[in-house]
Amino acid sequence: MRYVSTRGLAPPVGFSEAVAAGLAPDGGLFVPEFLPDLSGELAALGALPYPELCARFLGRFATDIPAPELGEVVARSYGAFDRPEVAPLLELSGGLHVLELFHGPTLAFKDLALQLLGNLYARQCAVRGETINVLGATSGDTGAAAIHGLSGKTGTAIFILYPDGRVSPLQERQMACTGAANVHALALSGSFDDAQAVLKALFADGAFRSRHRLSAVNSINIARILAQCVYYLHAWLRLPAAERRTAEFVVPTGNFGNVLAGWMLQKMGVPIHGFRVATNQNDILHRLFTSGDYQVGAVRPSLAPSMDIQVASNFERFMYYSLGRDGDRVRAVMAEIASKGRYRFSGFDRDTFSSSRCTDAEIPEVIRQVYRAYGYIVDPHTACAFKGLDPSRPSVVLATAHPAKFPETIRAAIGVEPTHPSLEALKGLPMVRHKIVADAAAIRGFIESRAI
Ligand SMILES: *Cc1c(COP(=O)(O)O)cnc(C)c1O
Repeated sequence: MRYVSTRGLAPPVGFSEAVAAGLAPDGGLFVPEFLPDLSGELAALGALPYPELCARFLGRFATDIPAPELGEVVARSYGAFDRPEVAPLLELSGGLHVLELFHGPTLAFKDLALQLLGNLYARQCAVRGETINVLGATSGDTGAAAIHGLSGKTGTAIFILYPDGRVSPLQERQMACTGAANVHALALSGSFDDAQAVLKALFADGAFRSRHRLSAVNSINIARILAQCVYYLHAWLRLPAAERRTAEFVVPTGNFGNVLAGWMLQKMGVPIHGFRVATNQNDILHRLFTSGDYQVGAVRPSLAPSMDIQVASNFERFMYYSLGRDGDRVRAVMAEIASKGRYRFSGFDRDTFSSSRCTDAEIPEVIRQVYRAYGYIVDPHTACAFKGLDPSRPSVVLATAHPAKFPETIRAAIGVEPTHPSLEALKGLPMVRHKIVADAAAIRGFIESRAI
């Protein structure tokens, strides 16, 4: 399988190269050259445990990695989860299912992709006899999950910048208490935007980038999307037969990454009925799916911070497919969005998508309702998906974080404070973090002194 750019100007590359590069050299995102048809295989896949299903699925895409090695990478990635099912599917009441995506090391759904990506990076270093320095900026969950994907891995180092005092204390501990020598948590005096600006400046310096073989952690790596297809497939295969063709997947989303994976799986011949795109008050995607208007706004910080996004970077992949896989048209649309901050989009499939928005005032209310109705505690991101659930149709709600990651919001909503042993354990561990000014030269100096 080869990978082409959504913008059509980069030469096709193999899987490992697409993963190593992240972004395509023409500024586009890598997509598989074609989407394989899985419809004939579904019956045979039904009984496979998660890691085997994942290895089988990825085998169609990672064709430059020998199958036994891919199997090892996958087994290592999902062995770190606290449930053998990896992503358990619970039924709260008739036809209402929850797909729990928070059983990985950082208790958020990003682990499903970043554990795999970390092991792919480590394998690549071993195969090529090279090292890699991974660099990213985070407002919370992504940095923690990326760190746990690479923590202690030979040949790799990871540097994560975050705004000092603006990530939750638990998220900071997840980043700064690993005890691993290759992990560097940098608490920046400044905002998340400052952190991103520094990162951009460092990546713009080609000589620095290639000297240290820098790679970016972000949501656009194709390996992340493919890893996410697997939990949709695993869940779909476990639905009662009568619900498989009618159930809607309800997906809390910001960057469109999560829901894109489900949609790509549908395009591979898995007959999923549809998806609801569930946003918080940063509702660019809800506005898009109701009016066709894609209009970039200002981010308003919310109780579901990992969805506080107003430019849905993975949307470019969806656009690519919707515009007939025509890189010229994608370039024109992206240029229009960049210059005008908006675009009128008409090409999407209205039968497949619906959408909803949940404001900060509504999140605690939904947490309370779900707790009363089912005795089940949802985190603020998952609460966005429970808002306005249609009881007449079977649903699979994706639960993207463990509620114990957001103890204050949950306590305020229901008077109960959820806990998790791994978060409790963090409280007794020493924190290693580096306070640093939001200045490209200072951070470059730090990276130069610690790069592997
Ligand atoms: C990152 C994140 C999301 C949003 O994921 P997208 O890839 O932007 O769709 C939702 N919930 C949680 C808990 C997250 O960490």
